[in-house]
Amino acid sequence: MSSQNWYRGNTHTHTNVSDGNASPKYAAEWYHRHGYDWLVITDHNKFTPVEDIPYHPETPFLLIAGCEISMSAEGKPVHLCAVNPRENPNSVAMPTIIQTLQAGVDRTNTLGGIPIVNHPNWCWAFTEYHMARVTDWALFEIFNPSTDCNNWGGGGELSMEERWDRMLSSGMRVFAVAADDSHTLQGEFYGHLSLPGLGWVTVRASELTTEAICAALKTGDFYASTEIELEDYEVTPEWIRVRIKQFDGYKYTTKFIGMNGKVLEERFGTEAVYRRRGDEPYVRARIWSSNGGHAWCQPVFPDTV
Ligand SMILES: [Zn+2]
Ligand SMILES: [Zn+2]
Repeated sequence: MSSQNWYRGNTHTHTNVSDGNASPKYAAEWYHRHGYDWLVITDHNKFTPVEDIPYHPETPFLLIAGCEISMSAEGKPVHLCAVNPRENPNSVAMPTIIQTLQAGVDRTNTLGGIPIVNHPNWCWAFTEYHMARVTDWALFEIFNPSTDCNNWGGGGELSMEERWDRMLSSGMRVFAVAADDSHTLQGEFYGHLSLPGLGWVTVRASELTTEAICAALKTGDFYASTEIELEDYEVTPEWIRVRIKQFDGYKYTTKFIGMNGKVLEERFGTEAVYRRRGDEPYVRARIWSSNGGHAWCQPVFPDTV
């Protein structure tokens, strides 16, 4: 492709079309004002055509239609974001979690959308065991700041990152998304609310269009973040290089992680390079800052160049 740019966006946003506390227009304004380039509106089982949202800013900002398919099975919530489906997926729950996930994935794909498996650790709903038994999907939420999403695991349960390594180590090619799941965009802020601006993805694309953003999501040409911004992320047959934007006096640690979650290399500072051996089933870069921020680059497979 020709020139490539980085575009920050959020794949999971609620508005007052379901149980969010602001209008779709307010949500669009909020994200635009806070440095985002694109936003997917994903109300529970509702589909809002973006052309119906009266937001026409002077600087570029892209709204993408979506829906959070919200079902339950085996007494647990089973949610997926459908990004850019042609219409409301209207997916129906099935007897088991695996069947219900598959139904949501299939409906989304049939409608030309991209399925994202949401917050598996929310209410400890399901695990990599379930996700490994669902086909035709590639994206899941590694980070969702809403209460009880339990991103970091603990108490004997795996973190979402550990679940990712298990899936990758089993040969699955799945990509990690950080997303806000924002519900509270105005009013008083305190803990235990689902606030905006805490988790996002930055995609690499030639232009800010729905087609280009969706293509980058599908192929994993993006990174997920809770704070850290990258200058660049480059993969060649020989190496993987991460360059991090310095913010204040923050210190950065990058780990290159491979099979079974093993740390292959650790680097400090704003630039980290990993020399590929060529026989690694996967390698991924994970960065964190002394301020508590995280970023996750998508895995590199042996045929990734
Ligand atoms: Zn949800
Ligand atoms: Zn949600």
